[in-house]
Amino acid sequence: MLESLVRSALPRVQGIYDRVPSPARHVLTSVRGWFLTQIRYSPETIEILRQLRAGESWRPARISAYQLDALRRTLDHAIRTVPFYSNYPRREIDAPEDLRKLPVLDRETVLNNQDRLLSQEIPLHRRIGATTTGTTGTALRVAYTETFLRKNWAFLLRQWAWAGIPPRHPRITLQGPRVVPADRREPPYWAFNVPERQILLSIFHLSEKTASVYLDFLQKHSGRVLEGFPSVLSILADFALERDMRIPMRGVFTSGEPLYPSSRAKIEEIFQAQVFDTYGMTEYCGLIQECERGRMHLAPEYGFLEILDDGGEPVGPGEDGNFVWTGFLNDVMPLIRYRIGDRGRWDDSGECPCGRASPLVVPTITRESDILQCPDGRLFSPRALNQLLKQSHSLRFCQFEHDRPDRVAVRAVPRSEQMSRQAAEEIMDVRAALQALLGKSMQVTAHLARAPIARSGGKIPLILNEAVQR
Ligand SMILES: [Zn+2]
Repeated sequence: MLESLVRSALPRVQGIYDRVPSPARHVLTSVRGWFLTQIRYSPETIEILRQLRAGESWRPARISAYQLDALRRTLDHAIRTVPFYSNYPRREIDAPEDLRKLPVLDRETVLNNQDRLLSQEIPLHRRIGATTTGTTGTALRVAYTETFLRKNWAFLLRQWAWAGIPPRHPRITLQGPRVVPADRREPPYWAFNVPERQILLSIFHLSEKTASVYLDFLQKHSGRVLEGFPSVLSILADFALERDMRIPMRGVFTSGEPLYPSSRAKIEEIFQAQVFDTYGMTEYCGLIQECERGRMHLAPEYGFLEILDDGGEPVGPGEDGNFVWTGFLNDVMPLIRYRIGDRGRWDDSGECPCGRASPLVVPTITRESDILQCPDGRLFSPRALNQLLKQSHSLRFCQFEHDRPDRVAVRAVPRSEQMSRQAAEEIMDVRAALQALLGKSMQVTAHLARAPIARSGGKIPLILNEAVQR
């Protein structure tokens, strides 16, 4: 219950956080961390982790039986308590194929029914809200509970166990939160979360000028777990490569965007540790985690995955299709047959040598994007800029077109004709936030467009960098 209060206060607290001196930021970060620690390392979480580890020895029949039972429970809960599903037929699910009689939800449907997708059984004070921007420009509001957070964290700890790392091993995190004010031009570019033994490093201050500060800091804290967005770790690895540095870490965990093979090799070489990648999403309806043998395992306790072709039929072996998820864990906002917009295929190259029988999946790398580089040398990864879109609800696509070294245009497509006025307002907010982030050395403009700019293969990058070739 506390987490829902803390979470809803975060946007207001950010303004205060940005104005206080660095030592106070460490204190505030640690206070926030203390709350999360109560959830992440509670006895319940550790018990769930124990159960998950026991489930790793399940054979395929046991996995199928578990999934069938979870599908039944999820459907029953959804039809009984969620207005959106109230007219779904109450029919018995005898086999996973029976699910195919139900409609597929696309992102647009979920966006248009956000409130009707919430379970009326979970009281408001237990709901924790978050937003996700996914691959498009529109933020989707999602909700979950503390109970969900415990379960979700147990899955993360399970992957740590695959890497031979115990819970609470000290870690360094390079993800979305703004831990240092955007206009700061000198260290520290980090904040300490003491209760969790975590250091949060800013992803908004990376540049050639700050590179040695970052690398020296990492060197000083080597041997920890390093976790972050692949593009951000790749930028750090490039800095280290230019200086011929190696910074040994205990393990590296990536998530949040595609990990390209070339980035993986570079990150593993620089940080002298195996990379464990994860495919997940803020809608929390599915999870695919890489094991110590380098294969991507579906987490069968987390959600049910269908991979369907564009006609809605299951794909054949080795064939690419759309991910359609039915989540088991989030009872506030159950998503049934949710087509998230990502693609992939079943990995049919035989059982994984790790011995786990959970299905193997190969997510397709679709989100290709450039890096944005300011005239003062600062580098921004796609995920850093993606954070700016979290308040946008009327944009179908939003892209950052970096056409001159000192200029970037925010270019967005409204979700619909009716929403173009709201889109025009939101795009100005995104422009202002980007201008504040990039500073005076960069001119930021904004305009609405009819269609996004696509590259070969139909990929729609978040950042189009035509000005600087790295
Ligand atoms: Zn494996």
